[in-house]
Amino acid sequence: MTEEAVPAEVIREADLCPACGSASLRTLFHGTDRLFGTTASYFEVVECTECRLMRLFPQPTAAELNQYYPANYWFAAGTDTASKLEDFYRRLVLGDHVRFVEKAIEGTKAAGPLLDVGCGGGLFLRLLRERGRKVMGLDFSLEAARTAWGVNRVPAMCGTLSKAPLRPGAFSVITMFHVLEHLYDPAGYVEAAHELLAADGRLVVQVPNAASWQFLLFGQNWNGIDVPRHLVNFKEKDLVALVEACGFEVTRRKFFSLRDNPAGMATSISAALDPMGRRVRGVPESPGIRLLKDGVYFGLTLLCLPFTVIEATCRAGSTIMIEARKK
Ligand SMILES: [Zn+2]
Repeated sequence: MTEEAVPAEVIREADLCPACGSASLRTLFHGTDRLFGTTASYFEVVECTECRLMRLFPQPTAAELNQYYPANYWFAAGTDTASKLEDFYRRLVLGDHVRFVEKAIEGTKAAGPLLDVGCGGGLFLRLLRERGRKVMGLDFSLEAARTAWGVNRVPAMCGTLSKAPLRPGAFSVITMFHVLEHLYDPAGYVEAAHELLAADGRLVVQVPNAASWQFLLFGQNWNGIDVPRHLVNFKEKDLVALVEACGFEVTRRKFFSLRDNPAGMATSISAALDPMGRRVRGVPESPGIRLLKDGVYFGLTLLCLPFTVIEATCRAGSTIMIEARKK
């Protein structure tokens, strides 16, 4: 890792630290889109010298950022064997998220449905709905919202949370899985969630945790950095500070995710094997080769499982999921 000071006066306001507003930063490393290959450009990942929040620098414009999101970024199941296996696997590993969120639903006195922000194709919401929960989804992608309705039969809207036509206090629980790290203004979303939640409502947030052993081990090749789509790289303490500054009290923390931590480590070891990465990059492969590569990736994921359990037990897992109560 190199250290070089960037003079404060050359920094746009948009590039000030989103947590503390400081212009002072140091470069940690340079990286490019190693997962999807949407661009050949290199980006800087910097650290605020005041609060040590890590972020992409300078921030890409909205038009640039749009190009770094492939059209099928979220997941929709196909009908061949590999797709069916993948769909089964996704349902299985989402159990972790479902259990965490059901505990939040049962713990609150607030009424109203659950809103999942960044709902993608809506599989998570479908699993909750199958368990009798009232749910709604919101996603930036029209295609994702359409899939949530059409494939998973859950109501979903297309838009941004801060401008969504929703009644304040309407929701009992709001969830955001892997959303905040993609935003220019994460605090804006957390504030909007605060307004949309009823009294005693719960916010559940999950982001990659840069205070993890995996980041120490893989550095810039850790998949949680995901240049250039992750604009902010939170550590556990950064996430807690953010939600508490927006009127929440953190009541639960979970450092292990069966869906994300072992597979994330497998992708850090071999981005070329990542199933979504291969699909997005359009790697030509026959159904047999695809099944074989998926099998090798799955095997690698299983090998990573013990390490990810141990790091999570030591509160240094590669993701952090929190439940926060509206104060
Ligand atoms: Zn800062």
